[in-house]
Formats: sequence, C-alpha cells, structure tokens
Amino acid sequence: MVKINENYGKLPGSYLFSEVARRISAYTAAHPEAKIIKLSIGDVTRPLVPAVTEAMHKAVDEMGTYEGFHGYGPEQGYPFLREAIAQFDYKARGVDIKPEEIFVSDGAKSDCGNIGDIFGVDNKVAVCDPVYPVYVDTNAMAGRAGDYVEAQGRWSNLIYMPCLEENGFMPQIPKERADLIYLCFPNNPTGSMATREQLKQWVDYANENGSVILYDSAYEAFITDPDIPHTIFEIEGARTCAIEFRSFSKTAGFTGNRCAYTVVPMELERDGAKLNTMWNRRQTTKFNGVPYVVQRGAAAIYTPEGHAQVMESIAYYQKNAQVIREGLTAAGLECFGGVNAPYIWLKTPGGMGSWDFFDLVLDKANVAITPGAGFGPSGEGYVRLTAFGDAEATRQAVERVKSML
Ligand code: PLP
Repeated sequence: MVKINENYGKLPGSYLFSEVARRISAYTAAHPEAKIIKLSIGDVTRPLVPAVTEAMHKAVDEMGTYEGFHGYGPEQGYPFLREAIAQFDYKARGVDIKPEEIFVSDGAKSDCGNIGDIFGVDNKVAVCDPVYPVYVDTNAMAGRAGDYVEAQGRWSNLIYMPCLEENGFMPQIPKERADLIYLCFPNNPTGSMATREQLKQWVDYANENGSVILYDSAYEAFITDPDIPHTIFEIEGARTCAIEFRSFSKTAGFTGNRCAYTVVPMELERDGAKLNTMWNRRQTTKFNGVPYVVQRGAAAIYTPEGHAQVMESIAYYQKNAQVIREGLTAAGLECFGGVNAPYIWLKTPGGMGSWDFFDLVLDKANVAITPGAGFGPSGEGYVRLTAFGDAEATRQAVERVKSML
C-alpha cells in the first residue's frame, strides 16, 4: 500500500483567502443588491503596460517563424532577461550580482516553497508572525513544522517572531537558534519595511550562526523612502548568507503572466555545498523554464519606456495606499504600513476580533478586507487592506468605512 506524505493531513482546514471568498459569496447570496468593494486579495487590477504587451506581441510573431521559434529555453531563464535583471535591479544600485546567480522562474510563490528542497528537514525555521502563509505551509508539508496546535494557531516546531506595534512590526532575533529565516520586506501583511541597520543585524546573525536568510522582496517596487535598501545584497555580508526572491507580479502586473526570479550568490555555502549549484540542480531537474514570450514581456520593463510605464502603475497604487491610510487615520483608526508597501495594516477599533471586524465591515460598508488573524496569531486585532484596486472604488470604500464608523 502506498504511503502518502502524512504532513498534508496536519494542515489546518481552509486557506485564508478561500475563507474570505466563502464569506463574501455567502453574504452576496443573501444580499444580491450589495455592491461589494474588495480591498482584500492582493492581486493587481491594472492592465499590462504597452511596452510589455508590444514586446509580447513581437515575441509571439517570432514564435510563428522558423527563425524566431523557441522550444525549451534555458531552465534558469534567457540571458537577455538575466542580464537585464543584473544590470537594472542590482548594478544600478551599486550591487554586483552576476547573471549566473539569477534564476528566472514562474513565481516567487513557487520559489519560496520550492527552496525547501535544498535544505534538510531537521533545520529550525523562523517565520514572522503575522506571515505570508506560503512559508509556513510549505515547511509543514516538508515536515519541518512539527504538528499544528489548533488552540494556539501555531506549528509546534516553528520559531515565531511576533511583529507587533511595540516592536514596530519588526521581527526580533529569536532566543532559540534559527537555521532558516524567512524575512519579507516590504512586508506582507503589515506593510512594514526594515532599515539598513535592522537588516545588517540579521545578516550578522546568519553569518555567525551558519543560518540562511530567505529574503522575499516581492514588493520591492513599492519602496519610496530613499534610505531604505531595495535588496538584501546592499547589506555587507549578505552574499554569504542570503537568498533573495523577487517577482514581476506586483512590479509589472504579471500575476496572470507568471515571471519571477531568485538570486543565489556564488559565495553562499553550507555544509561544504554551494547553494547556487544545488538550486541550479533542483531547477534543471524539476523546472523547464518560463515561456519565451513572457520573458520578453518581463525584459521590456527594463527599457526606458517600459520602466516609466510600470512606475506610473505603481504610483497609481501608491496613491490608493495614501487614500486608504490618510482617510482611515482621519476617521480615528490606527493605520500602519502603506508607505513603502501596498498594504495597510489597520488596528481594529475597540480591540475587536479581526474576523468580527471583517464581518462587520462586509455587512455595514460592503467592503471586503482580510482578517489579520489569518496570517498568524499576532495578526489578531488587525486587518489588512490592499491598494491594488481601482482608484475610485478605493476612495468609495474608504468613505463607506468612514460613514460606518
Ligand atoms: N511573496 C509574497 C510576500 C507575496 O505576497 C506574494 C503574492 O501575494 C508572492 C510572494 C507571490 O508572488 P508570485 O506572484 O511571483 O508567485
């Protein structure tokens, strides 16, 4: 009889966004006249920019010719894209990353989940609390998280680093030794951003302890503060302890197009093994590359027109973040994030539970938000609002919440 991976059976019931969607559907079924505005799911709404669609059209035409046809491409990504990433995302910021250190993929979600393949199951994993659920669930699937303790909403073998108002929503170095440390900045869900000094502490810790930092920077494009590092590789010492994940999803509206990349520096070695070589082995074995057409579209954001166009889209979302933050703050609510990130982390009024506040806002304002408790125990008492919606709908949603209060 076949044995299944029993860790799957330990995963708690519903995924956060399925439960949010279920409650919205139940509400609309009971109130068909309600016009719900969603500030819940972190998906983009603006179309691909013209530079991207033009590059993709051109690539499609090439694919229809003998000369321009592309079959399987390099599993790590085409050189034109890896070189553009090295040049514009790193060299332009004074950071030396070689194309061979960049692995193009179909998503930061896949990479954050798959990276566990190159690490042993006995590693102690530290995650922020609240957290992007993918880090937790993929480690649970791999058997690194132990058992799920329903009453606490935690996994027995994970190290949780509470990110609370009193620590500025910044993870603190844990007392227990952590081997794999997931950091996400700009942060989903709290919208917080680490300073250079804060990241330096983590880099020093990882180098001293032989740990590896898994640095998810999917929202890098939303950094506005000029003093904030855009990549962990701006921090001295990061090349010997960090892996960075980036994505075109939120930078260029690629959530439906699928393109991202992971940087594994050549100097990063553990247990006598080069992690770049291991990740290369993993990717070439289990992954067959991102479509040529998609990679051409991604590369177009590094042209002057493409860059200007995607920055315009990002500015549009940043404006939404400002409207939400300022509107709700003026209404007397406490808001965090939303400056270097597309997420606003809102404290529920009067200490209300985050699912209760979700239900209340859905019912009274017809606005959908995401309950903070769904991101981990320390998310209780908060909700997450996203800036990825239509500007007018976002403005209306803020007005509705304000009048509800
Ligand atoms: N990392 C974080 C922190 C995210 O919030 C998301 C998407 O919501 C992702 C990664 C997924 O990115 P991708 O679309 O490249 O898979």
